[in-house]
Amino acid sequence: MYIGVLGLQGAYAKHFAMLNSLKIKPVNIRWPDELESCDGLIIPGGESTTITKLLKENELQDALVQFAKEKPVFGTCAGMILMAKSVEDSSVQTLNLIDINVDRNGYGRQVHSFIDDLDINLNGSSFSMRGIFIRAPRILKIGDDVEILASIKQEPVLVRQGHHIAASFHPELTNESRIHKYFSALSTELSIA
Ligand code: GLN
Repeated sequence: MYIGVLGLQGAYAKHFAMLNSLKIKPVNIRWPDELESCDGLIIPGGESTTITKLLKENELQDALVQFAKEKPVFGTCAGMILMAKSVEDSSVQTLNLIDINVDRNGYGRQVHSFIDDLDINLNGSSFSMRGIFIRAPRILKIGDDVEILASIKQEPVLVRQGHHIAASFHPELTNESRIHKYFSALSTELSIA
């Protein structure tokens, strides 16, 4: 199985390492035709305004929307912002893949970055892990069709809608690979179907 990692800007290298540790082949995605071999796509953290600019420059905006109709997408942090239905910042153009409205840096600036213990619920079982939040987006509104897989203080931080998932934190910066495994299972299901 091949999972693409959008490699335009930001924390993509750690996702590569996580996928390699799971024996999944990561594919660096910079141009639309590179998506062809992929069963899923990860959009990493970084700077959503910069990623928006680069997506336009590399003509990836529409290609990602088309890809997401059939294949799963997993966004972390800036990736979650890009997957949202809307964000209160006109310099970011979202892909509208998950019915959430987010506030960029909604938990504060760099100095307010934090680590918190999270209870994650995947496939009916739960486990706890360290959530690393770096200028993380805050979900302000969430649609009825969006499943909440983890929250802090009753606010969702890991969500799923259909075959897409998004985290406001950075699982790739921990040794916890179960969210990546869960995502790869979604990708396998769809490539077999
Ligand atoms: N605050 C950043 C943004 O607006 C996201 C930060 C991150 O990805 N760690 O894009």
